[in-house]
Amino acid sequence: MESTEVTQEVEGEIFLDEGDHDRFSHYARKADIVESAVTGKPIVALCGKVWVPDRNPDRFPLCPKCKELFEQKKAKESR
Ligand SMILES: [Zn+2]
Repeated sequence: MESTEVTQEVEGEIFLDEGDHDRFSHYARKADIVESAVTGKPIVALCGKVWVPDRNPDRFPLCPKCKELFEQKKAKESR
């Protein structure tokens, strides 16, 4: 009798949030973005998302929540 055992081991599962925040560019404080570029540490975006800014933010569309908050902030400041 043949016994074929297929074991699939997943090493260090990577959770990818498809189509979510990670597909967006977020607004954050410029100082934080600069620091993250050096340290590689994640920062907190305007919308509250903790993420590591991409070196090419143009690759992703702008996070709608960040855009909204940024425009609200801008509107308040110009008043
Ligand atoms: Zn955002």
